Amino acid sequence: MDTAGLAALDRRHLWHPFTQQRGWESEPPVVIERADGATLYDSEGNAYIDGVSSLWCNVHGHRHHLIDAAIRLQLERVAHSTMLGLSHRPAIELARRLIEIAPGHASPGGRRLSRVFFSDNGSTAAEVALKMAFQWWRQRGEPARSGFVCLRDAYHGDTIGSVSVGRIELFHSLYRPLLFDAWAADPGDADHMESLLTEHGGRVAAVIVEPLVQGAAGMLVQPEGYLRRVRELCDRHGVLLICDEVATGFGRTGRMFACQHEGVVPDLLCLSKGLSGGYLPLAATLTTERIYEGFLGEHAEFRTFFHGHTYTGNPLACAAALASLDVFEKERTIDRLQVKIELLGRWLDRYVDPLETVGEVRQMGFMVGIELAGFPAEARMGHQVTLAARRRGAIIRPLGDVVVLMPPLGIGEPQLRRLVEITAEAIAEATAPRARRLHAAVA
Ligand SMILES: *Cc1c(COP(=O)(O)O)cnc(C)c1O
Repeated sequence: MDTAGLAALDRRHLWHPFTQQRGWESEPPVVIERADGATLYDSEGNAYIDGVSSLWCNVHGHRHHLIDAAIRLQLERVAHSTMLGLSHRPAIELARRLIEIAPGHASPGGRRLSRVFFSDNGSTAAEVALKMAFQWWRQRGEPARSGFVCLRDAYHGDTIGSVSVGRIELFHSLYRPLLFDAWAADPGDADHMESLLTEHGGRVAAVIVEPLVQGAAGMLVQPEGYLRRVRELCDRHGVLLICDEVATGFGRTGRMFACQHEGVVPDLLCLSKGLSGGYLPLAATLTTERIYEGFLGEHAEFRTFFHGHTYTGNPLACAAALASLDVFEKERTIDRLQVKIELLGRWLDRYVDPLETVGEVRQMGFMVGIELAGFPAEARMGHQVTLAARRRGAIIRPLGDVVVLMPPLGIGEPQLRRLVEITAEAIAEATAPRARRLHAAVA
């Protein structure tokens, strides 16, 4: 079937996520057919730089030979087997590897993550953490600790529990009647967190945060020291801390995990997007022995954690994740990322920052948000920029009027530079009418 045929069928039968289908139907879809490294190819043979890592998850590039081989090898054994009542080698080995690299592992004596609960996407990783925290307090005989504190502009996924601790009004406000209540703290303002915990601490099961960077909010970067203060406040008020590293995990911020920048160990850690190298759906919620032990008891006590998804800990996905961790070691991915982070910053300064329609450029490691200034929502300027970028050979995706760059960590320097150049050209082209008006006003 040719591209036109595929496009017609897409419009007839598909319903795309986070997409106004009416707009979708008026723009020809790009149909991705294959990929290699940081490059995507469509059904017409056009090449694009994968500027957002296929929605923030690809790590070492597409079709990495070691990850491909690991999946093939696992395929010769078993593609799927359940974790309910059975175990399998890739899940066992991956749990150990995750514990060995988790925040706090290298500092004995402190809080340690020692248990891994698998699921299959970021929303469920957060959902599992929330339910674990809630149930743990019940079983400790402190049912009053049933509430949660989240951050304003938070995003933890799209299921009802994770939406309850989400605060992106455009996505979340409609569902309010379906949700449980949570207190929202001003991000980056530890004093506000302190006043919330002072007032409500005894009723709070856990604080949930995206550490260092709130991704879906538009790459909002927290001030240095904030996460550390939140950890201290949680300890002072006896509240659990959930760190959702679904976006920030696996090298994105320049360390393996964002928590490590601040020497913080959470009570519950949510991982997904980059976990399998961006190959297959997989998620994990890590926790401490202290939380785990709160669920031990006789069968008749019903302290079991009654939660589990059919494809939890899928063997192919675990095999991909193990291979991805091997690649991190073999290719010294994090070490080699440091110079690319610096170059990315330099190129953003050179090409993007001077554009007069750019308000703020935010960067944390390999997470970038470029805020376009002063356009009405109806102009969909972020979207217009991504269309202009596509014509120049890069796939990027905006969050409202924030243009996001989130390339694979394994991208080469020439492609990284080209991505920034294309982004700057696309912003200049899409915002040209307003830039001209600005000039006219100044003249
Ligand atoms: C993407 C994301 C999620 C949701 O992950 P899904 O796999 O899309 O369900 C949760 N938390 C954060 C911080 C995310 O960026």
